[in-house]
Amino acid sequence: MISITPKSFCCISLGNNCRFQFRSKFITLRPMIYPLVGHLELRDQLGTAIANDRLPQVFLLTGPNGVGKQRLALWAAQRLLCQGSDGIEPCGRCSPCRKVLNLAHPDLHWIVPIPRPKASDPAKQVDEAETAIADIMGERRENPLYGMPDGMASHGIASARLIGRRVALTPVESHHKILIIGYADRLVPQESSPEAANALLKLLEEPARDTIIFLTTTDLGRVLPTIRSRAIPLRVGRVSESTIRAYLTAHLDPLPTPAELDERIRRAEGSIGAAIAEDEAWAKAQGAATALLDAITSSDQERYARCLAQAPWQARGEFSAMLEALAWTLNDAARNAVGGRPRRPLPQALAQANNPERLLTAIDRVDEARALAQGNTNPQIVLATLTDELAEGLA
Ligand SMILES: [Zn+2]
Repeated sequence: MISITPKSFCCISLGNNCRFQFRSKFITLRPMIYPLVGHLELRDQLGTAIANDRLPQVFLLTGPNGVGKQRLALWAAQRLLCQGSDGIEPCGRCSPCRKVLNLAHPDLHWIVPIPRPKASDPAKQVDEAETAIADIMGERRENPLYGMPDGMASHGIASARLIGRRVALTPVESHHKILIIGYADRLVPQESSPEAANALLKLLEEPARDTIIFLTTTDLGRVLPTIRSRAIPLRVGRVSESTIRAYLTAHLDPLPTPAELDERIRRAEGSIGAAIAEDEAWAKAQGAATALLDAITSSDQERYARCLAQAPWQARGEFSAMLEALAWTLNDAARNAVGGRPRRPLPQALAQANNPERLLTAIDRVDEARALAQGNTNPQIVLATLTDELAEGLA
């Protein structure tokens, strides 16, 4: 028996192309992904359908960020691949269970948004996408408390081709192939290649009998209607504060002070992802959003200076994260304006904002800017237009 470090596992993202060709019986596996918490009713439904061999093939899991949609899909994959369960839950002890929890099962394909590949050759782009996803899976094994993907990451044409390649494989160790596609609202292949988009839609319309597909999204409205119409929708709700508390207490190291923990749980609003994502990147994005609001509400000169300071093409991920934090902060101000409690102290620039209608319009504008930033528009131009509109709306 040999042991290898988690970084060496690659089966989940390389499928049959695995360079290492390790066979499971030679590998000592240490479960890395933390147990799923909450969602007992959905687990009951899915587990019963799997036990009775009556599981539909394509699901669209919708719900707020960080409530565990992809984790629930992973749980269902584990249950489908498990060889030791005769009930609702996977056994957690058999080899397939342990491989799923190590993100190392060759019949499980977890596709997440990635930055646009740099290569111009389509085959090389697919290889690049494959490597990028393998790297992300490697990071998740190392740190199961992973956050959201970069705001600019998407499922482009290379990912669509990669998905096609994966579903063409014969299952390696089980009777099923399971495909999890996180952030399905970021599937944007048809602009660049109608054939690849059509192939993907055909796959969802008529998946091979051995293929089960879980798509997830926080924003149903942004999922291609053709995908929505082909999938069984499953609503994944928020989890209770006590569940989040138990999760954080079990997995955070170091543990925050009791007061900080209470505050974090309150702010998380039923999202474990939000509770663990209180990291530097979010703090940075919020700082940038506050500085932008200051510039918008102080003077035209300040505002122009801020727009000119925006890098036209670099750091688009940071730009997108800043817009997300801006929308979040405006949302807080809108709550405050209708007598609700903001999730954190409002920045000076919004302390007096008391017109909910204007704030909601501002959020709409930021959402439009976010959509533009996801595309090919110069962030400097997006910011100039946005700050112009916000200056008027928030005046
Ligand atoms: Zn099992």
